[in-house]
Amino acid sequence: MTLVDGFGRQAEDLRISLTDKCSLRCTYCMPAEGLAWLPAKAVLTDDELLRLAGIFVGLGVRTIRLTGGEPLVRAGVAGLVGGLAALEPRPELSLTTNALSLADKADELAAAGLDRVNVSLDTLDRQRFAALTRRDRLPDVLAGLAAARAAGLDPIKVNTVLIREHNLAEAPQLLEWALRHGYRLRFIEHMPLDADHRWTRQDMVTAEEVLDVLGERFELRPIPFRGHAPAEEFEVLDGPGRRDWQPGQARVGIIASVTRPFCRDCDRLRLTADGQLRTCLFAQTETDLRGPLRAGASDAELGEIIKLAVAGKQAGHGIDAPDFVQPLRTMSAIGG
Ligand code: SAM
Repeated sequence: MTLVDGFGRQAEDLRISLTDKCSLRCTYCMPAEGLAWLPAKAVLTDDELLRLAGIFVGLGVRTIRLTGGEPLVRAGVAGLVGGLAALEPRPELSLTTNALSLADKADELAAAGLDRVNVSLDTLDRQRFAALTRRDRLPDVLAGLAAARAAGLDPIKVNTVLIREHNLAEAPQLLEWALRHGYRLRFIEHMPLDADHRWTRQDMVTAEEVLDVLGERFELRPIPFRGHAPAEEFEVLDGPGRRDWQPGQARVGIIASVTRPFCRDCDRLRLTADGQLRTCLFAQTETDLRGPLRAGASDAELGEIIKLAVAGKQAGHGIDAPDFVQPLRTMSAIGG
């Protein structure tokens, strides 16, 4: 059985938010004082989450990514990973994290069945990191990355959001560093999902701009096949530090959700920490799974609710439409 929408797209990738809370306060994401967190009772328990994940897997979901908020602030993530790894057929399991506590947890996560991690890191400059995230924790992130490598999590992807006045000029150094360490760096366009509603198209750093900045120091060649992956990939043919690169591994990705949308190939679904299914980051509506689940719905009934929601998935995110309205939930509350 599969989850197909009205445009023939098949949903196979599920992002599960484990919590809306985060241990950083990135200026482009969340206000300094945080947000109004979900009440504990609203958040899916481990058992509820595993049951829903099992239903999604039964409906054809093949990859599950744990995210948040910051997923590692939730207690018992390794236990959850173990539960997900026991599903049949076993989904591929990955985690998106700020890596603050990854140094302590990478081994147990890998042992529990985690396959890969994406680490969010926007700068290698300690002061800039502290200013951008409002927390002086860069050394913890770097230790987390090293621990992920030692634990055998592979590939390790690093996601960077560029904000013009903060870190755009650092893009080439970030790439040089990532290539030296064998991390797969991807630059993500900032999307209108910030809590402060300060996003504007004019201020946003575009994919084209990033490529221009990188092009001053690196020679890049597009890699044609993309499939459902959100990142456009480029092979790095030449640039500073070249002799340290691992053969065939020198790549960089650009996730241009705003200027080069990839909605036509989108195979993603999102389950929020409070059990709401979102078929698009920018959807104005959600489908409640927690209510029916707690009211005693069977797996078959929940499966029907999920199928109906997926069938109604919107064609695209519509950021460019004149009537575009930013969703009520922010990136951190949806699960980025
Ligand atoms: N806390 C985890 C982390 O830092 O990876 C997972 C959640 S975080 C919301 C996921 C990613 O979304 C991070 O890389 C973050 O930089 C990015 N992000 C946050 N707000 C964004 C926005 N408005 N547009 C694009 N990316 C955003």
